[in-house]
Amino acid sequence: MMNYDVIIVGSGLAGTMTALELDKSLNILLITKKSLEDCNSYLAQGGICVLKNNEDRESFIEDTLRAGHYKNKKSSVEILVDESISGIDRLIYYGVNFSKTNNIYDYTKEGGHSTNRILHCNDETGKYIMLSLFEELKKRKNIKILEDTEVIDLIKKENRCFGVITKDNKYFASNTILATGGLGGIFKHTTNFSHIKGDGIAMAIRNNVKVKDISYIQIHPTTLYENSNNRRFLISESVRGEGAIILNHKNKRFTNELMPRDIVSRAIYDEMRKENVEYEYLSMREVGVEKIESRFPMIYENLINKGIDPKTENLKIVPSEHYTMGGIEVDEYSKTSLEGLFAVGEVSNTGVHGKNRLASNSLLESVVYGRKLANYINKNFERFNVDIDLKERFINLEKNTELIKEIIKEDERVKEYIN
Ligand SMILES: Cc1cc2nc3c(=O)[nH]c(=O)nc-3n(C[C@H](O)[C@H](O)[C@H](O)COP(=O)(O)OP(=O)(O)OC[C@H]3O[C@@H](n4cnc5c(N)ncnc54)[C@H](O)[C@@H]3O)c2cc1C
Repeated sequence: MMNYDVIIVGSGLAGTMTALELDKSLNILLITKKSLEDCNSYLAQGGICVLKNNEDRESFIEDTLRAGHYKNKKSSVEILVDESISGIDRLIYYGVNFSKTNNIYDYTKEGGHSTNRILHCNDETGKYIMLSLFEELKKRKNIKILEDTEVIDLIKKENRCFGVITKDNKYFASNTILATGGLGGIFKHTTNFSHIKGDGIAMAIRNNVKVKDISYIQIHPTTLYENSNNRRFLISESVRGEGAIILNHKNKRFTNELMPRDIVSRAIYDEMRKENVEYEYLSMREVGVEKIESRFPMIYENLINKGIDPKTENLKIVPSEHYTMGGIEVDEYSKTSLEGLFAVGEVSNTGVHGKNRLASNSLLESVVYGRKLANYINKNFERFNVDIDLKERFINLEKNTELIKEIIKEDERVKEYIN
């Protein structure tokens, strides 16, 4: 029988940050479905928000609330903003090198922000953050890492969680943390990894753990249309910010490209239906043919590798699922309605994002709330030794995905996007 102090499911920023911040005396198991790097955190391009100075506090909070259609939980947003500086300091302590110009941090801006407050590592922020944290993770003797292992259910007894069940095993723990990310993998068009498909949310629902606002799903307007089941390549919002335009099959503009993500996505989707087509077009030439390569090197290189030259041809684009705002309902310490079970990162619903996430707030949420959760466990840790007979609890692996699809399909706005 395997008994741990803490089990963490998921190797994204939320799971990894929590693992590193937990006390080194705790015996921790980190389980992840594929390899450590196969998480959406690794794919983050734009950056991570931070409070630059106190004068920006109210405006950072207001930008987050406005983007969230004021459906956010204000106290959660205040925690996010107020603990952002210490969170970023912690990333720097773990070795993350954010981009600088002339030795000064290079703060950038994205849609919905009223000022420059986003730190980045060129246009591969997630990759560089995760590589630094993984290096530290592998040094920790108290953390055992189990890759290529799919968790399929929770171990529950008398309204308390005591660990998880995988396909071949059961792992007991005094505290269990779900950091399994969002549910993008169930969509036909998504920027997410296909294996990240709402497993944590499904396990919560099947065990009567409270979830909230599951149909609050962010659709990104401009991702590359490809005739494959691979995840969609993101064409960053800043490309439109620099002048790129959206065209229909008659080569005509039909929307204001700089409106918020949900409005542009809806316009493209309606036009696709009207024209009875599977994609529309994005012309990057308006950015300036000579500027495309220098301003967007990663996007340019990827397009060229796919045989598309944005200097001479339009890109086929389609709106894609991008982020899950809803999730397992948690308090500020990531406690769920089931004792002994915590949820952190995209799988959780802290109330930070409301109905629509402000760009670059999700990496920050994983850092801030991962640290708060770890501190909570460090202070309140209580050890349980359990062994429960679970023979009848082994379930069909497909059940979690089917359950999530059924729930999402109830929402008219998103059901046609599902694979
Ligand atoms: C293309 C792209 C660009 C983005 N850019 C930005 C950005 O610039 N700024 C920003 O703030 N956010 C960005 N985001 C969002 C951000 O990357 C994620 O929302 C955030 O990092 C979520 O972190 P997480 O740790 O909660 O989940 P993830 O990083 O998705 O990790 C989930 C983990 O859970 C594991 N897992 C899932 N199910 C199981 C199971 N059943 N058993 C075992 N393991 C399981 C997965 O394998 C994975 O390791 C972007 C997202 C994408 C897809």
